Amino acid sequence: MPVRSSILATGSGPARTAPSRGGTAGSLARVIWLLDLDNTLVGRADAFAAWAASAVADAGGTDDDLAAIVAADEGGHGSKEALARVLVARLGWADDVPAAIQRFRAGILSRVRPYDGVLFSLDVLRGAGHPVAVVTNGTSAQQRGKIARCGIEEHVDAVVVSEEEGVAKPDPRLLEIALARLGAADAARRDVWMVGDAPHADVAAGRAAGTRTAWVSHGASWDGPDRPDVVAPTTREAIALAASPTHARPAGWSA
Ligand SMILES: [Mg+2]
Repeated sequence: MPVRSSILATGSGPARTAPSRGGTAGSLARVIWLLDLDNTLVGRADAFAAWAASAVADAGGTDDDLAAIVAADEGGHGSKEALARVLVARLGWADDVPAAIQRFRAGILSRVRPYDGVLFSLDVLRGAGHPVAVVTNGTSAQQRGKIARCGIEEHVDAVVVSEEEGVAKPDPRLLEIALARLGAADAARRDVWMVGDAPHADVAAGRAAGTRTAWVSHGASWDGPDRPDVVAPTTREAIALAASPTHARPAGWSA
């Protein structure tokens, strides 16, 4: 079964059998997959929202408090110190800023889950002989913690975390490190996909590195110029579209 059909046809449902490695690559070129973590493989925003609602309820806070806290998070891209100060002010916590940061990070870790079917999609890609790496911005402890909790490590060939490497997306060097980690430093960049939800980090990094780009929109519209190569509401659909015959090319084809 072609990669795209496998991803969409069998990515949900109770009985999942991962394809054997190297089974369905056929005559298509090897493709290298670099995937963001937060809100691409795992529901970080969902985890934060659930934790924040619980924290507000515990503190006897209001809907306004919850809205202010979620706004301060900026989808995970805001200043952690600023978010901690909002939490302390809104919820009357006695914590200092580092303790408050630790508290919401622990809350996210306790609730984060992979998106339904997405790890199976990675298994399909790897089963077809395509290397897969996670390329994520964040602290080593937090990002590795999410990966461990969600059992992602066994579904990928490499994990690259910005804090460990000293460089973060949109700097293309983080993607280059991932390619080197996969033994694919020399891969043609048109055979590399960067998949992620953040235009300013994931799509921008892919562009800077010369890869193709797939934006996981979560239903939003691309409102800038230079639309990514693929736009889809979920990661599974983004992968399926990127793996479709529209984007594949035969092995050895160099045009
Ligand atoms: Mg993300």
